[in-house]
Amino acid sequence: MKPPKFDYLRPATVPEAIDALVAAEGGGKIIAGGQSLMPMLNFRLLNPTVLIDINRIAELSSFREEDGGLRIGSLTRHHKLETSDAVKRLFPVLNAAMAHVAHLAIRNRGTIGGSITHADPAAELPMMMVLLESEITIATPRGSRVVAAEDFFLGALTSAVEEDELVTEIYLPALPPNAGWAFEEVARRAGDFALAAVGVIMTVEDGRVTHSRVGVMGVGDTPLRLFDVETVLYDEACEGGILDQAIEVARASVAPATDLHASADYRRHLLGVLVKRALQTAWLRANGKDVASGSSSSGGHHHE
Ligand SMILES: Cc1cc2nc3c(=O)[nH]c(=O)nc-3n(C[C@H](O)[C@H](O)[C@H](O)COP(=O)(O)OP(=O)(O)OC[C@H]3O[C@@H](n4cnc5c(N)ncnc54)[C@H](O)[C@@H]3O)c2cc1C
Repeated sequence: MKPPKFDYLRPATVPEAIDALVAAEGGGKIIAGGQSLMPMLNFRLLNPTVLIDINRIAELSSFREEDGGLRIGSLTRHHKLETSDAVKRLFPVLNAAMAHVAHLAIRNRGTIGGSITHADPAAELPMMMVLLESEITIATPRGSRVVAAEDFFLGALTSAVEEDELVTEIYLPALPPNAGWAFEEVARRAGDFALAAVGVIMTVEDGRVTHSRVGVMGVGDTPLRLFDVETVLYDEACEGGILDQAIEVARASVAPATDLHASADYRRHLLGVLVKRALQTAWLRANGKDVASGSSSSGGHHHE
């Protein structure tokens, strides 16, 4: 199908884009990479009066290290996150997750701002935002505001971004030193959205977990942190009975839906398997063991 008719604007600055959104009185839609928006227009799921193309706004492509973390513009492409040396060094878990996003052609166009605003519950970047405790800056007609990732994802395909607002940048704060990490995902075919995925960050001292974060996706309306699992792990060795307990708590913490792709029971079971693998890998890495980079999930990935 073809998209409905709309006007098209290409502002040069953030204030111009905001003015255009305000003038459209709810009928305006930002277009970034267009990889989610265009299919929705073609299927006539959306009917905007005006598309506001932000690709010419130079500041939205900024990318720099700051205080051991990264401050990146909302137009940063998936491919940049996948190939950047700074991402590999500072956030290897993010680098690993990016290989699972769609296909190369989509990663060349898709942007971090588009992905997180679109807020697909099975998309990798929203989960990474929650796992990495990112801070999201949103330009509004009344100045800008910063929203923690934890408060950004409100529901399936619903983020905290209002219709007259624009995501400008994302800050990923530094991880603790020597953090172990892991990313595990299962999708039916290479490039498909995940059935479920798990990301872990973990630090260890004297054989005990001093800090952990467990992020999951595909098992609820939004990406989630499993704080109860993190509590189980705290001050313990992530092995044996503690690992079993962590898996049990993970499965009990989620309420996945049955849909076309998988049943709720299957997703819950799968989540436990992925949590186990991810915790084992992160534990090894946090203990200084060399584990081959990337995840070892079954199902399709690492295409092209
Ligand atoms: C076949 C296929 C497979 C895919 N598989 C995956 C996958 O496995 N994992 C995955 O994560 N994604 C997947 N995607 C989605 C892809 O990653 C999209 O590129 C991404 O979700 C949206 O980014 P975009 O820049 O293209 O956004 P757009 O399509 O341009 O916009 C998406 C939405 O966000 C809004 N928006 C965009 N930028 C901003 C901004 N800065 N501020 C406010 N609102 C904004 C738009 O108005 C729109 O509502 C897939 C897409 C396709 C077509």
